[in-house]
Amino acid sequence: MRNYYIAGNWKMNKTPSEGAAFVKELAPKVAGAKVKVLVAPSFAALQAVGDALKGTNVLLGAQNMAAEESGAHTGEVSPAMLKDLGVKVVILGHSERRAIYGETDQLINKKVKLALAQGFEVILCVGETLPERESGKAVSVTLGQLSAGLKDVQAEEMKNIVIAYEPVWAIGTGKTATPQDADDMHKEIRQNIGSLYGPPAAEAVVIQYGGSVKPDNAKELLSMPNIDGALVGGASLKVSDFEAIVKAV
Ligand code: PEP
Repeated sequence: MRNYYIAGNWKMNKTPSEGAAFVKELAPKVAGAKVKVLVAPSFAALQAVGDALKGTNVLLGAQNMAAEESGAHTGEVSPAMLKDLGVKVVILGHSERRAIYGETDQLINKKVKLALAQGFEVILCVGETLPERESGKAVSVTLGQLSAGLKDVQAEEMKNIVIAYEPVWAIGTGKTATPQDADDMHKEIRQNIGSLYGPPAAEAVVIQYGGSVKPDNAKELLSMPNIDGALVGGASLKVSDFEAIVKAV
């Protein structure tokens, strides 16, 4: 039985003190939730937010991670640094990392393998752009990113993999995939995981939907059979909106 999973990606928003104040307000409101809840602040806010989250049921995630363990990588943040801050989960392959910072499937795969080897749970983001959807390539692009991101990941490591299907055209745009379109893609992703790792892995994998999830569309999306949660950007920045999405499950 899959557990619902709602994750907030704050992107480059909230200073350390704003983040800490935010989670102090949020945590009691979602304390009784039966779903898994995560916030992913910027690297700079991880310490303050992590401290504020101690003793709560809200997990601490990072929005990215270096592909190397240590060394001459100016501006990068290593797995050991994240672990030391209490980070349990890393988001990898977000479309903004791919499109703005040129992260390739190969680099993302290297990060995925390193994160798994270091004991993190990975939220691997995949999804097509609007031109790719309009030219009928949505499934092939998304499944291509999926298999490339998971290359050489072993079946026993799949318990620490969560997939976030995020159609790029729906991120931060107010446009949401219809629940049926999103569910169809989630089904494709699940089947693909089944062919790579077998039916039990397919049945167990949690697949979040991301792309303009808001309090008013969350219930409909989350009621679809293959949608197991949400990766939330804009609406995770407001306590009442994020709380409403958690409670929409
Ligand atoms: C995201 O960045 O992962 C995202 C889904 O953003 P938004 O909810 O703002 O579309």
